[in-house]
Amino acid sequence: MSFVYDRVDVPEGGAAIDVVDPESDELDVPEDPIIPIIHGDGIGQDVGPAAQTVLQAAAKATGREIHWMRVYAGESAREMYDENLPADTIEAMKEFKVSIKGPLTTPVGAGFRSLNVALRKRLDLYTNMRPTFHLEGVPSPVSRPDQMDMVSFRENTEDVYAGIEWESGSDEVEAVREFIEEEMGYGDTIHDGPVGIGIKPITEFGTKRLVRKAIDYALENDRDSVTLVHKGNIMKFTEGAFRDWGYEVADEEYGDEVITEDTLWEERDGEPPEDAVVVNDRIADNMLQQILTRTAQYDVLALPNLNGDYLSDACGAQIGGLGIAPGANIGDGLFLAEPVHGSAPKYAGQDKVNPTAMILSGRIMLEYLGWNDAADLVRDALEETIASKQVTYDIERQISGGTKLSTSDFAGHVAEKIHDLA
Ligand code: NAP
Repeated sequence: MSFVYDRVDVPEGGAAIDVVDPESDELDVPEDPIIPIIHGDGIGQDVGPAAQTVLQAAAKATGREIHWMRVYAGESAREMYDENLPADTIEAMKEFKVSIKGPLTTPVGAGFRSLNVALRKRLDLYTNMRPTFHLEGVPSPVSRPDQMDMVSFRENTEDVYAGIEWESGSDEVEAVREFIEEEMGYGDTIHDGPVGIGIKPITEFGTKRLVRKAIDYALENDRDSVTLVHKGNIMKFTEGAFRDWGYEVADEEYGDEVITEDTLWEERDGEPPEDAVVVNDRIADNMLQQILTRTAQYDVLALPNLNGDYLSDACGAQIGGLGIAPGANIGDGLFLAEPVHGSAPKYAGQDKVNPTAMILSGRIMLEYLGWNDAADLVRDALEETIASKQVTYDIERQISGGTKLSTSDFAGHVAEKIHDLA
Protein backbone atom coordinates (compact mmCIF):
# COMPACT_ATOMS: atom_id res chain seq x y z
CA MET A 1 0.00 0.00 0.00
CA SER A 2 1.36 3.36 -0.86
CA PHE A 3 2.00 6.14 1.64
CA VAL A 4 -0.50 9.01 1.83
CA TYR A 5 1.36 12.27 1.22
CA ASP A 6 -0.05 15.14 3.25
CA ARG A 7 1.82 18.03 1.76
CA VAL A 8 3.53 17.11 -1.50
CA ASP A 9 2.06 16.24 -4.89
CA VAL A 10 2.64 12.84 -6.43
CA PRO A 11 2.88 13.30 -10.23
CA GLU A 12 -0.25 12.20 -12.06
CA GLY A 13 1.59 10.22 -14.74
CA GLY A 14 4.44 7.83 -14.22
CA ALA A 15 4.95 4.64 -12.27
CA ALA A 16 6.91 3.56 -9.22
CA ILE A 17 10.22 1.70 -9.51
CA ASP A 18 10.09 -1.65 -7.75
CA VAL A 19 12.76 -3.88 -6.23
CA VAL A 20 12.34 -7.35 -7.78
CA ASP A 21 14.85 -9.20 -5.65
CA PRO A 22 15.94 -7.65 -2.33
CA GLU A 23 18.95 -10.03 -2.20
CA SER A 24 20.49 -8.74 -5.42
CA ASP A 25 18.81 -5.29 -5.41
CA GLU A 26 17.47 -6.07 -8.90
CA LEU A 27 15.07 -3.31 -9.99
CA ASP A 28 11.97 -3.28 -12.12
CA VAL A 29 12.26 0.12 -13.80
CA PRO A 30 9.33 1.43 -15.87
CA GLU A 31 10.02 3.68 -18.88
CA ASP A 32 8.24 6.52 -17.04
CA PRO A 33 9.50 6.33 -13.43
CA ILE A 34 8.49 8.75 -10.68
CA ILE A 35 11.70 10.17 -9.23
CA PRO A 36 11.69 12.34 -6.08
CA ILE A 37 14.04 15.33 -6.19
CA ILE A 38 15.22 17.74 -3.47
CA HIS A 39 16.71 20.84 -5.10
CA GLY A 40 18.49 21.67 -1.83
CA ASP A 41 19.80 24.80 -0.12
CA GLY A 42 21.92 27.63 -1.50
CA ILE A 43 23.05 26.79 -5.05
CA GLY A 44 20.70 23.76 -4.97
CA GLN A 45 18.05 26.10 -6.41
CA ASP A 46 20.35 26.64 -9.42
CA VAL A 47 21.88 23.20 -10.03
CA GLY A 48 18.70 21.21 -9.23
CA PRO A 49 16.58 22.52 -12.14
CA ALA A 50 19.64 22.48 -14.44
CA ALA A 51 20.17 18.77 -13.78
CA GLN A 52 16.48 18.08 -14.36
CA THR A 53 16.71 19.71 -17.82
CA VAL A 54 19.69 17.58 -18.86
CA LEU A 55 18.50 14.27 -17.36
CA GLN A 56 15.05 14.66 -18.90
CA ALA A 57 16.66 15.41 -22.29
CA ALA A 58 18.66 12.18 -22.03
CA ALA A 59 15.60 10.20 -20.93
CA LYS A 60 13.48 11.55 -23.80
CA ALA A 61 16.26 11.03 -26.36
CA THR A 62 16.21 7.34 -25.43
CA GLY A 63 12.42 6.95 -25.51
CA ARG A 64 11.65 7.46 -21.81
CA GLU A 65 10.31 10.14 -19.52
CA ILE A 66 11.10 10.98 -15.91
CA HIS A 67 8.16 12.13 -13.76
CA TRP A 68 9.79 14.39 -11.19
CA MET A 69 8.29 14.60 -7.72
CA ARG A 70 9.49 17.70 -5.86
CA VAL A 71 10.12 16.94 -2.18
CA TYR A 72 11.65 19.24 0.40
CA ALA A 73 14.36 19.37 3.06
CA GLY A 74 16.39 22.11 4.73
CA GLU A 75 15.57 25.78 4.05
CA SER A 76 12.65 25.11 1.68
CA ALA A 77 11.07 22.66 4.15
CA ARG A 78 11.50 25.13 7.01
CA GLU A 79 9.79 27.84 4.98
CA MET A 80 6.89 25.61 3.98
CA TYR A 81 6.39 23.38 7.01
CA ASP A 82 8.62 24.75 9.76
CA GLU A 83 10.61 21.51 9.92
CA ASN A 84 13.91 20.36 8.45
CA LEU A 85 13.15 16.91 7.17
CA PRO A 86 9.42 16.20 6.70
CA ALA A 87 8.06 12.63 6.84
CA ASP A 88 6.73 13.04 3.27
CA THR A 89 10.30 13.40 1.98
CA ILE A 90 11.56 10.27 3.70
CA GLU A 91 8.50 8.26 2.67
CA ALA A 92 8.72 9.37 -0.98
CA MET A 93 12.35 8.25 -1.10
CA LYS A 94 11.39 4.89 0.39
CA GLU A 95 8.38 4.38 -1.82
CA PHE A 96 9.94 5.41 -5.15
CA LYS A 97 13.34 3.82 -4.36
CA VAL A 98 15.55 6.02 -6.57
CA SER A 99 15.91 9.77 -5.83
CA ILE A 100 18.27 12.70 -6.33
CA LYS A 101 19.14 15.67 -4.14
CA GLY A 102 21.15 18.87 -4.21
CA PRO A 103 23.25 20.12 -1.27
CA LEU A 104 21.86 20.92 2.18
CA THR A 105 23.46 23.46 4.52
CA THR A 106 24.76 22.34 7.92
CA PRO A 107 25.49 25.03 10.53
CA VAL A 108 29.00 24.76 12.03
CA GLY A 109 29.37 24.33 15.81
CA ALA A 110 25.82 24.93 17.03
CA GLY A 111 22.35 24.39 15.47
CA PHE A 112 20.78 21.32 13.94
CA ARG A 113 22.79 18.26 12.95
CA SER A 114 23.56 17.53 9.31
CA LEU A 115 20.41 16.74 7.32
CA ASN A 116 22.58 14.89 4.83
CA VAL A 117 23.79 12.57 7.56
CA ALA A 118 20.20 12.26 8.90
CA LEU A 119 18.87 11.28 5.46
CA ARG A 120 21.60 8.68 4.98
CA LYS A 121 20.86 7.23 8.40
CA ARG A 122 17.05 7.28 8.16
CA LEU A 123 17.17 5.48 4.80
CA ASP A 124 20.15 3.33 5.82
CA LEU A 125 22.06 4.49 2.74
CA TYR A 126 25.24 2.95 4.05
CA THR A 127 27.45 3.44 0.99
CA ASN A 128 28.56 6.75 -0.46
CA MET A 129 29.88 6.04 -3.93
CA ARG A 130 31.95 8.65 -5.72
CA PRO A 131 33.27 7.92 -9.21
CA THR A 132 36.11 10.27 -10.12
CA PHE A 133 37.10 10.51 -13.78
CA HIS A 134 38.31 13.35 -15.94
CA LEU A 135 36.13 15.02 -18.55
CA GLU A 136 38.25 16.12 -21.49
CA GLY A 137 38.76 19.87 -21.55
CA VAL A 138 38.23 20.45 -17.82
CA PRO A 139 41.29 22.25 -16.38
CA SER A 140 43.04 20.44 -13.55
CA PRO A 141 45.87 21.27 -11.11
CA VAL A 142 47.72 18.07 -12.09
CA SER A 143 49.54 17.30 -15.32
CA ARG A 144 47.81 13.97 -16.08
CA PRO A 145 44.20 14.24 -14.89
CA ASP A 146 43.26 11.58 -17.45
CA GLN A 147 44.99 9.01 -15.21
CA MET A 148 42.38 9.54 -12.51
CA ASP A 149 39.67 6.90 -12.79
CA MET A 150 38.82 5.84 -9.24
CA VAL A 151 35.55 4.95 -7.59
CA SER A 152 35.46 5.43 -3.84
CA PHE A 153 33.05 3.59 -1.56
CA ARG A 154 32.79 5.52 1.69
CA GLU A 155 31.02 4.03 4.71
CA ASN A 156 28.12 6.36 5.43
CA THR A 157 26.62 5.51 8.81
CA GLU A 158 29.32 5.15 11.46
CA ASP A 159 32.83 6.31 12.47
CA VAL A 160 33.06 9.80 14.02
CA TYR A 161 30.02 10.74 11.91
CA ALA A 162 27.76 8.57 14.09
CA GLY A 163 26.86 11.74 15.97
CA ILE A 164 27.80 10.37 19.41
CA GLU A 165 29.50 13.38 20.99
CA TRP A 166 29.15 15.59 24.04
CA GLU A 167 29.62 19.34 24.37
CA SER A 168 32.26 20.77 26.69
CA GLY A 169 30.76 21.88 30.00
CA SER A 170 27.78 19.49 29.78
CA ASP A 171 26.97 16.99 32.56
CA GLU A 172 27.23 14.24 29.98
CA VAL A 173 30.79 15.09 28.98
CA GLU A 174 31.86 15.12 32.62
CA ALA A 175 30.23 11.72 33.18
CA VAL A 176 32.01 10.31 30.11
CA ARG A 177 35.34 11.82 31.22
CA GLU A 178 34.95 10.25 34.64
CA PHE A 179 34.14 6.87 33.10
CA ILE A 180 37.15 7.04 30.76
CA GLU A 181 39.57 8.21 33.42
CA GLU A 182 38.45 6.22 36.41
CA GLU A 183 36.80 3.07 35.11
CA MET A 184 38.76 2.59 31.89
CA GLY A 185 42.10 3.64 33.37
CA TYR A 186 43.01 6.52 31.04
CA GLY A 187 43.79 8.83 33.96
CA ASP A 188 46.48 10.99 32.33
CA THR A 189 45.24 11.00 28.78
CA ILE A 190 42.77 13.88 28.59
CA HIS A 191 44.08 17.37 29.45
CA ASP A 192 42.45 19.13 32.40
CA GLY A 193 39.85 21.83 31.66
CA PRO A 194 37.00 22.03 29.16
CA VAL A 195 36.79 19.13 26.73
CA GLY A 196 34.49 17.93 23.96
CA ILE A 197 34.34 14.14 23.53
CA GLY A 198 33.16 12.08 20.56
CA ILE A 199 32.96 8.34 19.96
CA LYS A 200 34.19 6.50 16.87
CA PRO A 201 32.26 3.25 16.37
CA ILE A 202 33.35 0.99 13.50
CA THR A 203 31.49 -2.31 13.40
CA GLU A 204 32.09 -5.61 11.66
CA PHE A 205 28.56 -5.38 10.22
CA GLY A 206 29.03 -1.83 8.87
CA THR A 207 32.47 -2.59 7.44
CA LYS A 208 31.59 -5.86 5.77
CA ARG A 209 28.47 -4.63 3.99
CA LEU A 210 30.43 -1.63 2.65
CA VAL A 211 33.38 -3.71 1.47
CA ARG A 212 30.96 -6.15 -0.23
CA LYS A 213 29.46 -3.24 -2.20
CA ALA A 214 32.96 -2.16 -3.31
CA ILE A 215 34.02 -5.68 -4.34
CA ASP A 216 30.70 -6.36 -6.10
CA TYR A 217 31.14 -3.13 -8.04
CA ALA A 218 34.72 -4.04 -9.00
CA LEU A 219 33.63 -7.46 -10.24
CA GLU A 220 30.63 -6.14 -12.16
CA ASN A 221 32.62 -3.35 -13.81
CA ASP A 222 35.83 -5.24 -14.68
CA ARG A 223 37.94 -3.25 -12.25
CA ASP A 224 41.34 -4.66 -11.22
CA SER A 225 41.61 -3.81 -7.53
CA VAL A 226 39.88 -2.72 -4.34
CA THR A 227 42.05 -0.81 -1.84
CA LEU A 228 41.06 -0.67 1.85
CA VAL A 229 42.13 2.78 3.09
CA HIS A 230 42.57 3.04 6.86
CA LYS A 231 44.60 4.52 9.68
CA GLY A 232 44.93 1.19 11.49
CA ASN A 233 48.52 1.82 12.55
CA ILE A 234 47.24 4.42 15.04
CA MET A 235 43.57 3.51 15.60
CA LYS A 236 44.10 -0.23 15.84
CA PHE A 237 40.73 -1.32 17.14
CA THR A 238 38.60 0.81 14.83
CA GLU A 239 40.43 1.49 11.55
CA GLY A 240 42.67 -1.56 12.02
CA ALA A 241 39.54 -3.65 12.47
CA PHE A 242 38.11 -2.08 9.28
CA ARG A 243 41.12 -3.41 7.41
CA ASP A 244 40.92 -6.88 8.99
CA TRP A 245 37.16 -7.27 8.42
CA GLY A 246 37.61 -6.03 4.86
CA TYR A 247 40.17 -8.77 4.19
CA GLU A 248 37.87 -11.33 5.82
CA VAL A 249 35.17 -10.49 3.27
CA ALA A 250 37.70 -10.80 0.45
CA ASP A 251 39.06 -14.12 1.76
CA GLU A 252 35.85 -15.81 2.75
CA GLU A 253 33.07 -14.72 0.41
CA TYR A 254 34.28 -14.58 -3.19
CA GLY A 255 36.29 -17.74 -3.91
CA ASP A 256 38.68 -17.42 -6.85
CA GLU A 257 37.13 -14.17 -8.06
CA VAL A 258 39.00 -12.17 -5.44
CA ILE A 259 42.60 -12.49 -4.23
CA THR A 260 44.39 -10.51 -1.52
CA GLU A 261 47.70 -8.80 -2.29
CA ASP A 262 49.57 -10.98 0.25
CA THR A 263 48.34 -14.21 -1.33
CA LEU A 264 49.16 -12.81 -4.74
CA TRP A 265 52.82 -12.44 -3.80
CA GLU A 266 53.08 -15.54 -1.62
CA GLU A 267 51.48 -17.91 -4.09
CA ARG A 268 51.56 -16.34 -7.54
CA ASP A 269 54.64 -14.15 -7.66
CA GLY A 270 52.48 -11.04 -8.05
CA GLU A 271 50.62 -12.33 -11.12
CA PRO A 272 46.83 -12.10 -10.60
CA PRO A 273 44.53 -14.78 -12.02
CA GLU A 274 42.63 -13.59 -15.08
CA ASP A 275 39.57 -11.46 -14.24
CA ALA A 276 40.25 -11.62 -10.50
CA VAL A 277 39.97 -8.52 -8.34
CA VAL A 278 43.00 -7.89 -6.10
CA VAL A 279 42.24 -6.57 -2.60
CA ASN A 280 45.02 -4.60 -0.93
CA ASP A 281 45.24 -1.92 1.76
CA ARG A 282 46.97 1.42 2.26
CA ILE A 283 47.34 3.72 5.25
CA ALA A 284 45.24 6.85 4.70
CA ASP A 285 48.01 9.49 4.85
CA ASN A 286 50.12 7.51 2.39
CA MET A 287 47.06 7.12 0.19
CA LEU A 288 46.60 10.89 0.00
CA GLN A 289 49.99 11.17 -1.68
CA GLN A 290 49.57 7.96 -3.72
CA ILE A 291 46.53 9.40 -5.50
CA LEU A 292 48.82 12.17 -6.75
CA THR A 293 52.01 10.22 -7.41
CA ARG A 294 50.65 6.84 -8.56
CA THR A 295 47.22 7.83 -9.81
CA ALA A 296 46.84 5.18 -12.49
CA GLN A 297 47.58 2.37 -10.05
CA TYR A 298 44.35 2.68 -8.08
CA ASP A 299 40.90 1.66 -9.06
CA VAL A 300 38.15 1.07 -6.45
CA LEU A 301 38.67 2.34 -2.87
CA ALA A 302 36.78 1.24 0.27
CA LEU A 303 37.03 3.66 3.19
CA PRO A 304 35.63 4.41 6.64
CA ASN A 305 33.47 7.54 6.77
CA LEU A 306 35.98 10.31 7.61
CA ASN A 307 38.82 9.03 5.40
CA GLY A 308 36.26 8.72 2.60
CA ASP A 309 35.17 12.31 2.99
CA TYR A 310 38.72 13.70 2.81
CA LEU A 311 40.03 11.40 0.12
CA SER A 312 37.14 11.71 -2.31
CA ASP A 313 37.32 15.53 -2.19
CA ALA A 314 41.07 15.29 -2.88
CA CYS A 315 40.36 12.98 -5.85
CA GLY A 316 37.70 15.47 -6.98
CA ALA A 317 40.24 18.30 -6.99
CA GLN A 318 42.43 16.33 -9.42
CA ILE A 319 39.67 16.18 -12.02
CA GLY A 320 38.71 19.85 -11.83
CA GLY A 321 37.15 20.56 -8.46
CA LEU A 322 33.90 20.45 -6.62
CA GLY A 323 31.79 21.78 -9.49
CA ILE A 324 32.52 18.52 -11.33
CA ALA A 325 32.56 15.76 -8.69
CA PRO A 326 29.46 13.53 -8.51
CA GLY A 327 28.26 11.03 -5.92
CA ALA A 328 25.46 8.70 -4.84
CA ASN A 329 24.28 7.07 -1.62
CA ILE A 330 23.30 3.44 -1.87
CA GLY A 331 21.59 1.11 0.60
CA ASP A 332 19.78 -2.19 0.13
CA GLY A 333 17.30 -1.40 -2.64
CA LEU A 334 17.43 2.38 -2.07
CA PHE A 335 19.46 4.94 -4.01
CA LEU A 336 19.98 8.69 -3.62
CA ALA A 337 22.23 10.61 -6.03
CA GLU A 338 23.91 13.80 -4.74
CA PRO A 339 26.87 15.95 -5.79
CA VAL A 340 29.97 16.10 -3.59
CA HIS A 341 29.84 19.89 -3.24
CA GLY A 342 27.92 21.84 -0.63
CA SER A 343 25.40 24.68 -0.85
CA ALA A 344 28.02 27.45 -1.52
CA PRO A 345 25.67 30.08 0.00
CA LYS A 346 27.58 33.04 -1.45
CA TYR A 347 26.51 32.01 -4.96
CA ALA A 348 22.93 31.02 -4.08
CA GLY A 349 20.29 31.99 -6.63
CA GLN A 350 22.76 33.74 -8.95
CA ASP A 351 22.38 31.23 -11.81
CA LYS A 352 26.17 31.13 -11.85
CA VAL A 353 27.67 27.90 -10.54
CA ASN A 354 28.56 24.76 -12.42
CA PRO A 355 25.77 22.15 -12.52
CA THR A 356 28.08 19.40 -13.84
CA ALA A 357 28.47 17.65 -10.46
CA MET A 358 24.70 17.47 -10.04
CA ILE A 359 24.23 16.36 -13.66
CA LEU A 360 26.90 13.66 -13.32
CA SER A 361 25.28 12.51 -10.06
CA GLY A 362 22.11 12.12 -12.10
CA ARG A 363 24.18 10.17 -14.62
CA ILE A 364 25.09 7.64 -11.89
CA MET A 365 21.35 7.44 -11.24
CA LEU A 366 20.67 6.69 -14.92
CA GLU A 367 23.26 3.88 -14.78
CA TYR A 368 21.64 2.55 -11.61
CA LEU A 369 18.32 2.44 -13.50
CA GLY A 370 20.07 0.44 -16.23
CA TRP A 371 19.70 3.33 -18.70
CA ASN A 372 23.30 3.16 -19.85
CA ASP A 373 22.49 4.61 -23.28
CA ALA A 374 21.07 7.74 -21.63
CA ALA A 375 24.03 7.90 -19.23
CA ASP A 376 26.51 7.75 -22.14
CA LEU A 377 24.66 10.56 -23.92
CA VAL A 378 24.98 12.75 -20.81
CA ARG A 379 28.72 12.20 -20.56
CA ASP A 380 29.32 12.72 -24.30
CA ALA A 381 27.21 15.89 -24.37
CA LEU A 382 28.96 17.31 -21.31
CA GLU A 383 32.37 16.57 -22.81
CA GLU A 384 31.48 18.16 -26.15
CA THR A 385 30.02 21.25 -24.50
CA ILE A 386 33.10 21.75 -22.32
CA ALA A 387 35.45 21.02 -25.24
CA SER A 388 33.72 23.84 -27.18
CA LYS A 389 34.64 26.10 -24.24
CA GLN A 390 31.02 26.90 -23.40
CA VAL A 391 31.47 26.75 -19.64
CA THR A 392 30.49 28.20 -16.27
CA TYR A 393 32.61 30.70 -14.31
CA ASP A 394 34.73 28.14 -12.42
CA ILE A 395 36.10 26.64 -15.63
CA GLU A 396 36.13 29.86 -17.67
CA ARG A 397 38.50 31.49 -15.16
CA GLN A 398 41.03 28.72 -15.73
CA ILE A 399 41.09 28.54 -19.54
CA SER A 400 41.71 31.04 -22.30
CA GLY A 401 39.13 31.87 -24.93
CA GLY A 402 36.18 30.38 -23.05
CA THR A 403 32.60 31.69 -23.10
CA LYS A 404 31.16 32.15 -19.62
CA LEU A 405 27.63 30.75 -19.37
CA SER A 406 25.07 30.85 -16.60
CA THR A 407 24.03 27.60 -14.89
CA SER A 408 20.79 27.41 -16.87
CA ASP A 409 22.39 28.30 -20.22
CA PHE A 410 25.09 25.67 -19.71
CA ALA A 411 22.40 23.06 -18.97
CA GLY A 412 20.48 24.23 -22.05
CA HIS A 413 23.59 23.74 -24.24
CA VAL A 414 24.16 20.25 -22.85
CA ALA A 415 20.50 19.32 -23.43
CA GLU A 416 20.73 20.57 -27.04
CA LYS A 417 23.91 18.56 -27.54
CA ILE A 418 22.09 15.46 -26.27
CA HIS A 419 19.40 16.10 -28.85
CA ASP A 420 22.06 16.42 -31.61
CA LEU A 421 23.90 13.27 -30.53
CA ALA A 422 20.84 11.02 -30.13
P1 NAP B 1 30.87 24.21 -0.82
O1 NAP B 1 29.47 24.65 -0.66
O2 NAP B 1 31.06 22.95 -1.59
O3 NAP B 1 31.65 25.40 -1.54
C1 NAP B 1 33.04 25.59 -1.47
C2 NAP B 1 33.57 26.20 -2.76
O4 NAP B 1 33.61 25.19 -3.78
C3 NAP B 1 32.72 27.31 -3.37
O5 NAP B 1 32.94 28.54 -2.78
C4 NAP B 1 33.19 27.25 -4.83
O6 NAP B 1 34.51 27.75 -4.95
C5 NAP B 1 33.31 25.75 -5.04
N1 NAP B 1 32.06 25.14 -5.52
C6 NAP B 1 31.17 24.38 -4.83
N2 NAP B 1 30.17 23.99 -5.63
C7 NAP B 1 30.42 24.51 -6.85
C8 NAP B 1 29.75 24.45 -8.09
N3 NAP B 1 28.61 23.75 -8.28
N4 NAP B 1 30.29 25.12 -9.15
C9 NAP B 1 31.43 25.81 -9.01
N5 NAP B 1 32.13 25.88 -7.85
C10 NAP B 1 31.62 25.24 -6.79
O7 NAP B 1 31.58 24.00 0.58
P2 NAP B 1 31.41 24.79 1.96
O8 NAP B 1 31.43 26.28 1.67
O9 NAP B 1 32.42 24.20 2.84
O10 NAP B 1 30.00 24.39 2.51
C11 NAP B 1 28.81 25.19 2.43
C12 NAP B 1 27.67 24.44 3.08
O11 NAP B 1 27.39 23.23 2.36
C13 NAP B 1 27.95 24.02 4.53
O12 NAP B 1 26.77 24.24 5.28
C14 NAP B 1 28.21 22.52 4.43
O13 NAP B 1 27.87 21.83 5.60
C15 NAP B 1 27.29 22.13 3.29
N6 NAP B 1 27.70 20.89 2.59
C16 NAP B 1 26.69 20.08 2.18
C17 NAP B 1 26.99 18.93 1.48
C18 NAP B 1 25.85 18.06 1.02
O14 NAP B 1 24.72 18.52 0.98
N7 NAP B 1 26.10 16.80 0.69
C19 NAP B 1 28.32 18.61 1.16
C20 NAP B 1 29.34 19.49 1.57
C21 NAP B 1 29.01 20.64 2.29
P3 NAP B 1 34.93 29.23 -5.42
O15 NAP B 1 34.39 30.17 -4.39
O16 NAP B 1 36.41 29.16 -5.43
O17 NAP B 1 34.37 29.50 -6.77
